[in-house]
Amino acid sequence: MGFLDQVPAGAGAVLTIDLAAIAGNWRRLRDHAQRSGRTVECAGVVKADGYGLGAVPVARALLKAGCRTFFVADLEEAAALRAALPTGPDARILVLHGPTPGTERDLAALGLIPVLNSLDDIDRWRFLAAELGRELPAVIHIDTGMNRLGLDDGDARRLAGDTARLSGIALTGWMSHLASADVAGDGLNAEQDARFRAHLARLPAAPVSLAASSGIFREASLLHNMVRPGAALYGVNPTPEAPNPMSPALRLLGRVLQIRDVPAGTTVGYGATYRTAAPARLATIAVGYADGYFRALGSSGHVTIAGVRAPVVGRISMDLLSVDASDVPPAALVPGVFAELIGPDRPLDDVAADAGTIGYEILTGLGRRFYRVYQGA
Ligand SMILES: *Cc1c(COP(=O)(O)O)cnc(C)c1O
Repeated sequence: MGFLDQVPAGAGAVLTIDLAAIAGNWRRLRDHAQRSGRTVECAGVVKADGYGLGAVPVARALLKAGCRTFFVADLEEAAALRAALPTGPDARILVLHGPTPGTERDLAALGLIPVLNSLDDIDRWRFLAAELGRELPAVIHIDTGMNRLGLDDGDARRLAGDTARLSGIALTGWMSHLASADVAGDGLNAEQDARFRAHLARLPAAPVSLAASSGIFREASLLHNMVRPGAALYGVNPTPEAPNPMSPALRLLGRVLQIRDVPAGTTVGYGATYRTAAPARLATIAVGYADGYFRALGSSGHVTIAGVRAPVVGRISMDLLSVDASDVPPAALVPGVFAELIGPDRPLDDVAADAGTIGYEILTGLGRRFYRVYQGA
């Protein structure tokens, strides 16, 4: 923990992001996607500021590892990434929300590739291409079961019957998105793939993408030409039914501010919801729900101090939480030491389960006042 010497004395919490682990996870996903010996491109999804870990440093690390295609949600995220990555074919930026009305010209000017989610998106994109007098690249999204974004069944058939509608569009690829890839053996995966393939058979050929993190670990038939992992890059387990094949990418440490020895029967925190059953040593840590440490973790989560488990007691406050650190050796428990809230001793997915949510939500909810350390750049 040598790097902790460089943490400002006033920092209440430290978020360490391991870019080497993220790059390693990307390589593992790419290799797994190519397990049948076919070339399958592995993109990187860095929307929501790289799932809370920093889209720019993450994308730069992925670029160095060989990733050439990056997905973000909207124009604003795309423009920020465009400014940070080299332009040209070595770093394609795809925009999942597509050319929302009014953003078309900015998308084209910045050389971004929108995902066209409707016939209306297609029309507005090709009209702009005609006006600019050059082809504009795009991916077209066909909905096969999410019923969220993408051409529905009828519109995909209409497009197949009128492919002149694609004139002026340089077709980068076709995509669809799986609803239940995280559930091993779910029949919906094959059903969606079959619907997708039926549409593709009627449409002009272009590279095809269906699988995100979990889909990479399901039937090899789902892999097509490109996979689009997000969560697994950041260490979320893409196979919830089995041990996590990914490496942890972050560590969240919170500083112990105060230690108090209390007798049995002492209540802790707002609402006095927790009462010690025996004499206890409590530690107060400088992280709260304002930092994305979910209030649902009150009296249900735990942290580790010097590798020893310390259960959260009482409600999580905005900037503070309390743990019962009675089992931590006294020499390891002094004001100023750090507790691990998420990390190798306290996996992200376990924290999420204790909070009644998924790793995705914990990641994207991580607060802004942590002292951030990027390692392995
Ligand atoms: C967010 C998203 C992904 C990445 O999903 P993960 O489960 O995080 O791998 C891929 N494709 C689309 C369309 C998405 O919205």
